[in-house]
Amino acid sequence: MVNLRLYHTGQCRHPEWSTRHDRPMRPCTFPMHAAVLDRGGDLALFDTGYAPRFFAASQPFPERLYRWLTPTTAPAADALARRLIAEGTHGAVRTIVISHFHADHVAGLRDFPDARILCSRRAWDHVRSVSRMGAVRAGYLRALLPEDIEDRLGFVDDLPMRPLPPVFHPFREGRDLFGDGTVLLLPLPGHSTGQIGAAFIGPDGAAHLLIADASWSVTALRDDAPPPGLTLRFIGSAADFRETWGKLRQLIAAAPETRLIACHCAASSAPYLVPR
Ligand SMILES: [Zn+2]
Repeated sequence: MVNLRLYHTGQCRHPEWSTRHDRPMRPCTFPMHAAVLDRGGDLALFDTGYAPRFFAASQPFPERLYRWLTPTTAPAADALARRLIAEGTHGAVRTIVISHFHADHVAGLRDFPDARILCSRRAWDHVRSVSRMGAVRAGYLRALLPEDIEDRLGFVDDLPMRPLPPVFHPFREGRDLFGDGTVLLLPLPGHSTGQIGAAFIGPDGAAHLLIADASWSVTALRDDAPPPGLTLRFIGSAADFRETWGKLRQLIAAAPETRLIACHCAASSAPYLVPR
């Protein structure tokens, strides 16, 4: 059995139009939630969210462009590590799954020096292959990554593959995070190269799918309102994004009871948020 807890780690501002094409240009606030997957006290994180070191990492040029484009608030009191230390659960974090390497998803990585880190091989190969400017363009801030990341890094591609239940179709198989089939990791590429999501059945028997940034909100997916073409030109792959979007729409149509949760989506996250 797996319990999901979400933590608000900060927020950024963006024109709403850039996240769904049918909305106005006015800037909107988007929260960033980090997820804790709790399997009987054995914890895995699904992303770490913002942490205050984001500001130091985005201080130099060209990294500063990231901060200019997405003005960010990340109070120290909201850092995931601080919240988990206060709860007494920080030491139980064995694994951190990185859905993708955008700075708002990995800023807290250095706060968990003993955890193993998991991502897709495609995502890591991309992080390693781009130039400094290319990294900023892709939404990466390399200073956020721990120096020893290569020693602690594993690839989801190497985990055992298992079939997903029909409530997750058309996603038919995933990689087994805990080795017991409770959480299966699956590819959701497009928004960022090699992005992954997490599928599991909650304690109430409901199917859950963490979709990371495959959409900025679950309502946009239900409304079939993707980001505009201009946004898609700057993401990992517009073609992959559209394919992932189409699959998620198929899932919603076939299994509307499956709960999709997006990292920046206040509405889908609300039932799982741990109050400050
Ligand atoms: Zn992202």
